[in-house]
Amino acid sequence: NNIIEIDEVVKEFNDNKVILPLSLSIYSGEFLTILGPSGCGKTTLLRMIAGFEEPSSGVIKLNGGVVNNLPPYKRDMNLVFQHYALFPHMNVEKNIQFGLKMKGISLAEQKTRAEEAMKLTQLTEFRNRKPHQLSGGQQQRVAIARAIVNNPKVLLLDEPLGALDFKLRKDLQRELKNLQRELGITFIYVTHDQEEAMSMSDRIVVMNNGKIEQIGTPKEIYQNPASKFVASFIGENNYFHKDDQLIAVRPENIKISQSPVGKHKGIIKDIEFVGTLNKIYIEIKGEENTVIVYQMPDQSNLSRNEEVYIHWKLEDEVIM
Ligand code: ADP
Ligand code: MG
Repeated sequence: NNIIEIDEVVKEFNDNKVILPLSLSIYSGEFLTILGPSGCGKTTLLRMIAGFEEPSSGVIKLNGGVVNNLPPYKRDMNLVFQHYALFPHMNVEKNIQFGLKMKGISLAEQKTRAEEAMKLTQLTEFRNRKPHQLSGGQQQRVAIARAIVNNPKVLLLDEPLGALDFKLRKDLQRELKNLQRELGITFIYVTHDQEEAMSMSDRIVVMNNGKIEQIGTPKEIYQNPASKFVASFIGENNYFHKDDQLIAVRPENIKISQSPVGKHKGIIKDIEFVGTLNKIYIEIKGEENTVIVYQMPDQSNLSRNEEVYIHWKLEDEVIM
């Protein structure tokens, strides 16, 4: 049930390998997110899937057939970017119909399909507006509507919400997730924002330096990071050396005690109130990194420069 198979794909630009041998199976109908820091090769990978770049070696299959050098328009996919280019002189409805018109689809069908796409993206009431009369979020909805009106099998989205402010981004994340559920098509979503990836995806592919670090559900990746890179990139983590091993403990799993418990004694350096949680920074003797602990504010009667002990349950340790 794999719609896309990527097998040992490499991409070089002028002898510079930006994708190292990379293999990945993408399931039909899933919301898959490619997550990683800027420059790790996310866009390059997406552009190869879409057909705008050809792999230097390796194979990309779509529905079982090799598509390495099949042009984008023959792939039944659509790509949405952060910097969408809408036609400034056309209203919302015409912008959405345009691609269908170019394909020679009848005006009646153009209208029916644009109607449906506007409904799905909550644009119906703005149908007669020109792009400059829309907010950033509404413009991005038009870009998405323009892509889904083609009924693609796969929708590729390259940091589509990157230019929007926090609140709008949160709203559109939920809308996109709902849209994907409703349409049942495969979404391949690129972001460098781990929170965005965690909240939207069925599976996440964590990339670093042209390679896959881990593939898994948000929960698997959070609870069982496969490498220190993943453990630090997805949420926050604390590291401790124990019996020649490096272990990671999440900030919400560390308990603070004002009376002596265990062997980690420290000093509270800072307490920050971050929304629903207090974030407490503790310096531990003999450990080089400051430990971060999350606590519910109402549990907390701690103060700066106080001496405390930290401990955690064995089951909350992850060995790196
Ligand atoms: P990301 O999307 O994760 O930020 P990119 O895929 O855009 O990363 O880029 C990965 C690396 O490939 C970067 O070092 C970038 O400079 C390089 N790169 C991307 N496209 C080209 C190109 N057309 N020519 C040369 N180098 C490129
Ligand atoms: Mg990119």
